[in-house]
Amino acid sequence: MKFELPKLPYDLNQLEPVITAKTFEFHYGKHHQAYVNNLNNLVPGTKFENATLETIIKESDGGIFNNAAQIWNHTFYFMSFAPNAGGEPKGKLAELITRDFGSFAEFKDKFAKAATTLFGSGWAWLVINKEGKLEITQESNAGCPLKHGLKPLLTIDVWEHAYYIDYQNRRPDYIAAFWNIVDWKVIEERL
Ligand code: MN
Repeated sequence: MKFELPKLPYDLNQLEPVITAKTFEFHYGKHHQAYVNNLNNLVPGTKFENATLETIIKESDGGIFNNAAQIWNHTFYFMSFAPNAGGEPKGKLAELITRDFGSFAEFKDKFAKAATTLFGSGWAWLVINKEGKLEITQESNAGCPLKHGLKPLLTIDVWEHAYYIDYQNRRPDYIAAFWNIVDWKVIEERL
């Protein structure tokens, strides 16, 4: 199977100033593309030749896992955004957030804290756990909730390459701005 960089449902300058076109040029155009190229080079001749990305993530380790998970994580992250988005979730997702975190504000605080305190490179996630409850998790490097049987709903990339061009060392400013581009309609569809 040949993996490809996904097309994004917005122009690369449309999420400015939260994420600039310059960041997309590197983060999507070079980093995300590199994971795709790497996986396409690593898979031929292995048992994963005809496997889906999800199967590879669940069953591989090492370089194949790292590149497969990074492709999936980045696609999931970039597909969570829209211009003029933000605000608050509605409907079922809003109910679940209130049930499991107390309020949307408390959820945001907890998610932002997970993203801020993640040491080094990785991802903070909102997932549905095996008991059907919402949970916030941290994953280092290419870590992906699919590997642990969790259902991902939302993620933020806190590798420095995700924010250094726009925010330099100010990871908390990037996290605070992130909420303005989250498309809650897309997140709710993932339930
Ligand atoms: Mn990244």
